[in-house]
Amino acid sequence: MNFDDNGMVCPFCGHTFDLVNNTAGGIYIFFKNGQIYYEPFNINPGSFNYNQVIHSENSILVLMARCPNPKCNKTTIKINPIGTQFKDEKEQVDVYPNGQFKNYPDYVPAYIRKDYKEACLIVNLSPKSSSTLSRRVLEEIISDFYEIKNGKRLVDKIRILEDKNIDPDIIKEFHCLRKIGNIGAHLDMGTNEIPKEVNSTEADALIEAIEDIIDKTYINRHKRQNTLNRLSEIADKYSKKS
Ligand SMILES: [Zn+2]
Repeated sequence: MNFDDNGMVCPFCGHTFDLVNNTAGGIYIFFKNGQIYYEPFNINPGSFNYNQVIHSENSILVLMARCPNPKCNKTTIKINPIGTQFKDEKEQVDVYPNGQFKNYPDYVPAYIRKDYKEACLIVNLSPKSSSTLSRRVLEEIISDFYEIKNGKRLVDKIRILEDKNIDPDIIKEFHCLRKIGNIGAHLDMGTNEIPKEVNSTEADALIEAIEDIIDKTYINRHKRQNTLNRLSEIADKYSKKS
């Protein structure tokens, strides 16, 4: 769903369209010699290329596209950071619709980050696919972080977790996930089945829950490890003195 030479797929209706002057445009904001500048960014057919954007310092490109499908006509907004400060973050950021995703650090496994990101990007276009991906992320976290690899159904895996010394809030969250309207029933399905009907609000709720679970697992573990390392260093220093 990025803006590029091949046009884009509307995240609201799925219509594919070319990025031309009457469907898309942008503004380029940059600092130069201590001054801020704004320049229109015109999109010409077949020539959409970030490399043509000349910049001397860190800058951003704000992009807007309007779906030409007469039944839709909705607007998509993205921003694109450009410049030395953002050299590792070249990806476009979805401002609207809410396909925003968090860029998690490397200690969250790459396949989990990828499935989570895809779930976010597709939430409006296909809530069904998004919720299937979120469910997969949940299973991946249970398998990788908690090392629960046996048990066919998600509900069985959660039950195995109940018997372990796991943060009760997380267990509650897993169970709430199962109980969110229709999605609750879908979560009890086998891995290869696909939910029948899920709306984007429900799919959004799943994404929020996944983000919270990532915070409470990978992110918290990393923070705790860092704190422990620092404490150990301080303790070592004092034990040498005494
Ligand atoms: Zn559209």
